[in-house]
Amino acid sequence: MRLAKDLDVEGKRVLVRSDLNVPVTDGVVGDDGRIRASVPLLRDLLDRGALPVVTAHLGRPKGSPDPAFSLAPVATRLEQLLGAPVVAAADVVGDSAAKAVADQQPGSVVLLENVRFEAAETSKDDAERGALADRLAGFADLYVDDAFGAVHRKHASVYDVAQRLPHAAGPLVATEVDVLKRLTEDPARPYAVVLGGSKVSDKLTVIEALLPKVDSLLVGGGMCFTFLKAQGHEVGASLLEEDQLETCRAFLETGKVVLPVDVVAAERFAADAAHDVVPVEEIPSDRMGLDIGPRSVELFRDALAGARTVFWNGPMGVFEMAPYAEGTRGVAEAVASLDGALTVVGGGDSAAAVRALGIDESRFTHISTGGGASLEYLEGKALPGLTVLED
Ligand code: ADP
Ligand code: MG
Repeated sequence: MRLAKDLDVEGKRVLVRSDLNVPVTDGVVGDDGRIRASVPLLRDLLDRGALPVVTAHLGRPKGSPDPAFSLAPVATRLEQLLGAPVVAAADVVGDSAAKAVADQQPGSVVLLENVRFEAAETSKDDAERGALADRLAGFADLYVDDAFGAVHRKHASVYDVAQRLPHAAGPLVATEVDVLKRLTEDPARPYAVVLGGSKVSDKLTVIEALLPKVDSLLVGGGMCFTFLKAQGHEVGASLLEEDQLETCRAFLETGKVVLPVDVVAAERFAADAAHDVVPVEEIPSDRMGLDIGPRSVELFRDALAGARTVFWNGPMGVFEMAPYAEGTRGVAEAVASLDGALTVVGGGDSAAAVRALGIDESRFTHISTGGGASLEYLEGKALPGLTVLED
């Protein structure tokens, strides 16, 4: 894979696929981690005299322009973080985009509007995607993909455009691939994986792929209740996927799965609901588990002690509500405190949790910007956006 830093970019237009998919509410950017992460490549390109034209998506608009998903607020934030002018086009490949590119001044960046405003971006039809990719490619001499979070998508701005221009991987893609390789090829042992989040079914394939490779798999979050039920516990009104019980039983038979021993059981899915810590043997039938309890945090910390490779994906509880954030905080602290270990945080919500809980990001070896893409990589799938960069 060629790297962006090895391209001769002086005076060239470079189409950059960035991951700027951040939460935006009423035109205000929330957690701007992904915008921050996209700055180093753009800074480097500007410093080397290139004219960066950025394409990116935001949320899931339905293939047509929708102001709620406009990248305009992102352009404002990017301009502040980059300290250089960012000209936001009002369309993806229309007159506004063409004019912004034609008028682009050295030292400035053009940000095209949300690429998913074009239905062709995500089309299953090669010709439709190709037509959009032709127009995107027409804006540039070179293509750099810095959007690891999108490399598992066969989309026009990720896959097809790379076939049309000399291409390279940006630093985010290169770093992600390096780290994920270290997790899959000959990881230093002991190797522990911590999984949480809401659904077992979302993460079944990754569990299947990782179990043979890891020494232990610690399970928290909403998905732990299907495991606890499979182990014979009653889980009350907690999240439960009945159809995954058999699969969870099989996972338990490996002897590598570590489950919580206590949980925070709440009357309702609400921050102000009555809640108590209960052992997993005693979850009341009318309560739902919204976090792992303090004894479980201790157990997980002990299970992680001495690990040399750790991959953590998925919050341990509903960290968005303060009463159910302590499990995630405790496990994040335990992972962050490991000395000399490779510690990787994957998953959009997990990365957001680290930031929301105020845990210093530099205490982890790497925080992945791409949730689904990292999981698919770990599952051993071929990712179209990477394959296309390799040739
Ligand atoms: P990631 O984005 O890091 O891969 P997921 O998307 O799989 O993580 O899961 C994150 C969500 O899981 C969070 O919004 C969190 O509130 C939710 N969650 C965690 N624990 C529970 C639980 N016990 N019950 C319901 N939802 C939970
Ligand atoms: Mg998520």
